[in-house]
Amino acid sequence: MSDVSIVLVEDEAPIRRFLRATFGAQGYRLLEATTAAEALVEVASRQPDVVIVDLGLPDLDGLEVIRRIREWTTVPIIVLSARGQEADKVAALDAGADDYVAKPFGPGELLARIRVALRHAAGAGHPGEAVFTAGSLRIDLARRRVTMDGQDVHLTPIEYRLLTALARHAGKVLTHKQLLTDVWGPSHADQAHYLRVYMGQLRRKLERDPARPRYLLTEPGVGYRLAAE
Ligand code: CA
Repeated sequence: MSDVSIVLVEDEAPIRRFLRATFGAQGYRLLEATTAAEALVEVASRQPDVVIVDLGLPDLDGLEVIRRIREWTTVPIIVLSARGQEADKVAALDAGADDYVAKPFGPGELLARIRVALRHAAGAGHPGEAVFTAGSLRIDLARRRVTMDGQDVHLTPIEYRLLTALARHAGKVLTHKQLLTDVWGPSHADQAHYLRVYMGQLRRKLERDPARPRYLLTEPGVGYRLAAE
């Protein structure tokens, strides 16, 4: 029995059944999810070695599942989809997938892609933690939930992206340009005033004294840093 575990996100029962048999014969442990919501919980709680994502899910597009997983982990993601156009593949790879297998697929090919993903992951270091904490601040990256002293803090999507960009590199300075590119995209790399506005909003929500921040620190002339514990 190998100790490889795979989360499969697939709403079609026949494909799940087929892969259960295929992976079982390899000794892989298969964890099944039929919705995006289940998938995000499974990936966060089980920390699998590989994630396989179908793009057509009942509750959320598979691309969005990939983006959310990528917010906090580098676990290999393989797309398994009936969408076979080049544009579909490009969109999935840009969202953060590592590989793309079009349906209908042969089990031999899928198993080979999994072996490739496992080889790459073995050389890649730590895949990432699902929860970030510093002092009273807690960010559950898998569930997209931010709390301060146990109280939920409601953030806008941009505020959340800014906070998680800082959390991914906690303790390190991120330049204005890095943050603008990460949160708003490369075409906004010079819009430093965006950062000032949103950093002000985040501090009002997260800091006891926004004028003397404990978590969201300014590095004058350079950028910002999230205090690490
Ligand atoms: Ca489907």
